[in-house]
Amino acid sequence: MYEERFDKRKFDELRPMEAETGIIPNANGSARFKIGNTEAYAAVYGPQEVKPKHLEKVDRAIIMCRYDMMPFSVPDRAKPGFDRRDMEISEVITNSLNRAVILEEMPRSMIDVRVYVSQADAGTRCASLTAAAMACADAGLPMRDLVAAVAAGKIGDSICLDLTKEEEDFHEGGATDVPIGFLPSKNEIVLLQLDGKVSREDLKKIIEIGKIGAAKIYELQKAALKRRFSNESQS
Ligand code: UDP
Repeated sequence: MYEERFDKRKFDELRPMEAETGIIPNANGSARFKIGNTEAYAAVYGPQEVKPKHLEKVDRAIIMCRYDMMPFSVPDRAKPGFDRRDMEISEVITNSLNRAVILEEMPRSMIDVRVYVSQADAGTRCASLTAAAMACADAGLPMRDLVAAVAAGKIGDSICLDLTKEEEDFHEGGATDVPIGFLPSKNEIVLLQLDGKVSREDLKKIIEIGKIGAAKIYELQKAALKRRFSNESQS
């Protein structure tokens, strides 16, 4: 049984969030997204020449994304180097961005996306994807929509939004974690993973709660981008 959340949040409540764009002067686009104690920075370079050349596509751009955790992002110092988890997360972020960015408008080019997690308390792939989508918009890339991503799941008997690491590790009754990425205005899911076991009915409820959370994240993303572009037009 999990009747009250460790941090006293409601079951459908997100952790406090912060979002900003245009924070890295040397990148074409950048963003920071923080949700509770999970924080991600994203930098976008391009569209630029494809290197190595054989990866070039004549009819569209390619996205190359790399996710990394800073050594101090977790209590036990993250191991340096690109491990299987980093590889998997880089790939799921790339796949999601491929659905959001209009690649056909930038043939023969490459978009390099770098995401760094500075603090990790679960949900880092979702925070990274949320930041990466904002950074792509900040770079002025043509996009079908932003991606707003959040993890939801089931802890004990309760369907929960935006799990913490403490909740992911809940043993009594088990924990299931479902990272979900949405193109909110298109009502499309571009990321859906599942770590654990749930019934079909519960999965529907988890996706529904995730969608409500993503709608709030989307509002924050848009507000951050509006702030950035209105500041730019004033200077
Ligand atoms: N984590 C950690 N050390 C690692 C990798 C992960 O402490 O080397 C923690 C971190 O808090 C992370 C969480 O485990 O957010 C869950 O990781 P998972 O692979 O499920 O991905 P995430 O939920 O971050 O997308």
